[in-house]
Parts: sequence; C-alpha cells; structure tokens
Amino acid sequence: MTNRKILLDEEKLPKQWYCILPDLLKPLPPPIDPMTKEPGPGIVPKIFPKQILSQEMSTERWIDIPEEVRDVYRLWRPTPLVRAIGLEKALKTPAKIYYKYEGVSPPGSHKANTAIPQAYYNMKEGITRISTETGAGQWGSSLAFGCMLFGLEATVYMVKASYQQKPYRRVMMESYGAKVYASPSTQTESGRAILKEQPNSSGSLGIAISEAVEDALSRADTNYGIGSVFNHVLLHQTVIGLETKEQLATTGDYPDVIYGCIGGGSSFSGLFWPFYYDKMVTKKAPKDVRFVATEATACPKVTKGEYTYDHGDTAKLTPLVPMHTIGHDFIPAPIHAGGLRYHGIAPTISNLAATKQLETEAYNQLDVFNAAKLFIQSEGIIPAPEPSHAIKGVIDEALRCKKTGEEKVILFLLCGHGYFDMQAYDDYNHGKILPYEYPTEKVEASMKKLRQLYPWLDEVKKKFI
Ligand SMILES: *Cc1c(COP(=O)(O)O)cnc(C)c1O
Repeated sequence: MTNRKILLDEEKLPKQWYCILPDLLKPLPPPIDPMTKEPGPGIVPKIFPKQILSQEMSTERWIDIPEEVRDVYRLWRPTPLVRAIGLEKALKTPAKIYYKYEGVSPPGSHKANTAIPQAYYNMKEGITRISTETGAGQWGSSLAFGCMLFGLEATVYMVKASYQQKPYRRVMMESYGAKVYASPSTQTESGRAILKEQPNSSGSLGIAISEAVEDALSRADTNYGIGSVFNHVLLHQTVIGLETKEQLATTGDYPDVIYGCIGGGSSFSGLFWPFYYDKMVTKKAPKDVRFVATEATACPKVTKGEYTYDHGDTAKLTPLVPMHTIGHDFIPAPIHAGGLRYHGIAPTISNLAATKQLETEAYNQLDVFNAAKLFIQSEGIIPAPEPSHAIKGVIDEALRCKKTGEEKVILFLLCGHGYFDMQAYDDYNHGKILPYEYPTEKVEASMKKLRQLYPWLDEVKKKFI
C-alpha cells in the first residue's frame, strides 16, 4: 500500500506557472467592445496592474512566480495529495482515487493561490486598495488575506444571499481587516439601481461584480481583484496541478480521468492544465487522460448555456466575453453551492469544451450532498458544496469501474473545505435540500434578450468564435 498522504518537499514548490494559451487547439477569441463591435479590452486595462494584464494575454508558456509570492505560498504549500482509501473501500471499487486538497490554505480554499500574486502585483505598482465581489465568501476571504499580507486595504461586495447564509465568512474577512458590504449595496450606482427595482434582491455574482468594478473605476488608489474566469487567475492556480504531477510521480500512478467542479473554472483548470500539457504538448502522458468538469444543474452554463459573447456582469460594465453563458441577467436560486452560481465561465473552458478536450456533467444539489455525505463518512473531511459536485462525478465513475472491473486511476480536486457551510449541511441533514434544475426556457429568454440588446451578436459570434 502506498502512503495515504503524499507530501512534497517545500523546495519542490513550483517556480513557474503554466499558461495554456499558446497550446490551445483553436486560439482564444478576443473580448469584444460592444460600442465598436470590434475586439477591445474595454475597461479591463483601467482596473488591473500591468503585470496582471500582460499575464492575461500571455503568449509565454511558462511564467516565473515571484520569490515574494512563493514565500507566502510556503505558509501552506505544497498541499497534500491524498489517496482516498476509505472512499474506495466504501464503494468497493477497483479504481484508485486520489484527491489534491486545497482546503489547508489559511482562508480554506484554492483561491489564496491567486489572491497572493494579485495583491503582490498591485502593491508593487503602487495601488493601496483593492475592491472585489464574493459569492460564497471564499474569494473575499482569500483576497482579504492577500491584501492583509501585502499591506493593502480590501473592500468586498458580498452577494446578499451568502452574506445572510454564511455570516462567519464575513467575520473572517473582517478579521483579516476587510470592509464587507452586502450586495446589492447603497455604495454604488449599480447597487442602487438594482435596489430601486427590487428592494429585496438577494443579489447575484453578476451584480456584485458590477459594484466592485464601479468602485475600482471611481478611485485612483483602487484596482479590482477577481477570483476566477480571467486567464491570469487560472494561470496562478496551476501550482495545484504542477505539484500534483510531482506527487503522483512518486506513486507510479498516472490519472485516467481528472474531475473538478467549475464555477468560473479556475480551480479545475489549475489542476488539469499541467496534465493537458503532458497530453497535448510534450505528448508524454502515459495515458489518454480525460478531463471532466462538473457543474450544478441550478447553474448549468456549459451543459445548457450557449457558447457566445456575453457580459461578465449584470450592469454590462465588462466587455463581451467569449464563453458559455446562461445570461448576464441570471439570478440564481438560493442553492448552497454559492461558488458555482455564476452565469458564465472562463473562455478557456468554453474553448476546450468546443474543441472536445473537456467533458462536462451537471448534478443536482441533492445528489451532490448525498455524495458529500459518503465522502465525509469515509474520509472525514467535510467538503465545500462546490467540490462535492466533483465528488459526485468521481463516485459515479468509481461505481462504473466496479461494474467493468477497470482499475482506473481517478484524480479530483478538493478545492476547499466546508467548515463554513454548516447551514447547508444542517439543511441537508434535515431533508431540506431539494433537487433543482434551472429551466431551459429561462436560458432561452435570456439569450433572446441578449440578441435584442445586440442584434449583431450572431455576426460577431460567427466571425470570432
Ligand atoms: C470559488 C470556488 C469555486 C468555484 O470557482 P472556480 O473558479 O471554478 O474554481 C469552487 N469551489 C470553491 C471551494 C471555491 O472557493
């Protein structure tokens, strides 16, 4: 039996991040400025530091991780890779299951991997304050943590539904020194406009992004920080997969299939990009490894949405982004997997799905919590509801292996713990979690509205996507 926990020496901490952009089968379509209908970054250059902007459009495959960032990473990295022997036994599967565990970071998820470099680059370029949004609170906690370490102020617009459901996330952010507002708030024009129409709005990530971006645009000392979707964020997360490859190499195993959940796509990309590199670039992958992204049926952007151009936020401040979307006006049902409640997805995820490099599955929250329960009772860690979608996918895969007798190696990302999600687990334990599917008609209605807003949408889509 191999070790259950596969640890890596600190000196093996990656020195570079891996950028997939030069290695995509089809180039990434450009963002579109809706005013000109032509490629253009819109407000983006006004709200990010130069280093981040250059990473966003990098044509370099390998990007150095600053020593100051690696120093902070050492607080919790390298993170453990764990053989899920308890889960294997519970399932009576011949498959080997491994998970990379990012819940050991101080804020409790992978998001610290990008919060640290974002805070660092902003500090280096003389910015003293960062505004951001947060859905379930993990990103806000991570950014607050990063800002604290590099001496910056953090202001966080937190989706009101989460602000109410997860008050201890707010307390964590405040303990790191951040200012937290429930979104929609009265702090911004975008927030006030929503409140005027819907005084009881429970908010959405799209609305909170509008508020945070408006805040950053309105102040010279302030930039904006983002927790997912953008290329530079996914890039920073590749420390996860690079470490995992080193760790797995010591066991002699290589994954047949890799699972992760997708909210904006950053954690899963961080895990699988380095394996994509083996498969598609060096062609040294010993197996034809598959990548499976899992999402919530309550927010089914890739499985039910359309691959087109849409705004990243509700107030339409961002440029049009080439991605799968269920509409920038999406208001989520209050399911608990807060981090998956975003209407769009990273453009690289859409690109890879369209070129058939990536598979996607959607699961409803009841099945997901049932999977989480089995994981808790066999492995002990209480997972966040978001990665529990990946756990559901892994359990199904392992059960298929049981039927066929295949000894597959299954790898997944446990991107965060669920110790702030006790309300969700309490609801589940009391039978209050119900399956929910976002209706196709609602997606269609949003797409119709998008085309009324931009009658030229299909023309631009055909030209660039
Ligand atoms: C933010 C978050 C997600 C969703 O974002 P991705 O960019 O898809 O990773 C999923 N799980 C956890 C624990 C998160 O914090």
